[in-house]
Amino acid sequence: MGLKLYQSKRDFNKTPEPSGDPTHSPPVAAEHAKQTQTEATDALPAGLFCVQKHAASRLHYDFRLELDGVLKSWAVPKGPCYNPKVKRLAVHVEDHPLDYARFEGVIPAAEYGGGAVIVWDEGTWHALEDPRTGLMGGKLLFELRGRKLMGVWTLVRLKKDERNWLLIKHHDAMAHATLDVVTVFPDSIISQRSIETVAKDAHAPSWHSSKGPKKRR
Ligand code: MN
Repeated sequence: MGLKLYQSKRDFNKTPEPSGDPTHSPPVAAEHAKQTQTEATDALPAGLFCVQKHAASRLHYDFRLELDGVLKSWAVPKGPCYNPKVKRLAVHVEDHPLDYARFEGVIPAAEYGGGAVIVWDEGTWHALEDPRTGLMGGKLLFELRGRKLMGVWTLVRLKKDERNWLLIKHHDAMAHATLDVVTVFPDSIISQRSIETVAKDAHAPSWHSSKGPKKRR
């Protein structure tokens, strides 16, 4: 998919989100890309994953897996659930740039996806089946090693609609029938802030037209 769709939906003069333009990538992302390229030579790829809690017109959780230099992304309205019996709708959306994984801030209300974003979880994901074949065939099986999300998970596409997938906890030692992870651990793992605090925080990175992103601290 690449980043063209991602870029076409956004005006980077107005939103503080990363543009995904490699010439503007912070060195950290470039370093990381190099590291994961080495990992990708293994039989099954691994990379970073993140889940961003996004208070857009409807609150949802953006579930992202790094693959082939971008973040494959699904919007999960109810967020992940540790109960293997619970299947959470995950709408496949456009690829996002790697830099997006640590984006936390406020997208202006008038812009695409307007609302506050926090990094709800991050870590690494480890494919247990070939994810490139899986993306086409509609089934991904992988292990997550995050702060909140751990163990084996699967993403399965609903055949009738190419955009709709289900995110399901696999039966393993990490599965839990009653832990409501999105309620018990609601806040950012990088700033410990709640999404409500980020939405109101005057110090959150914000964008003023034609001036560029600015931290007003
Ligand atoms: Mn979103």
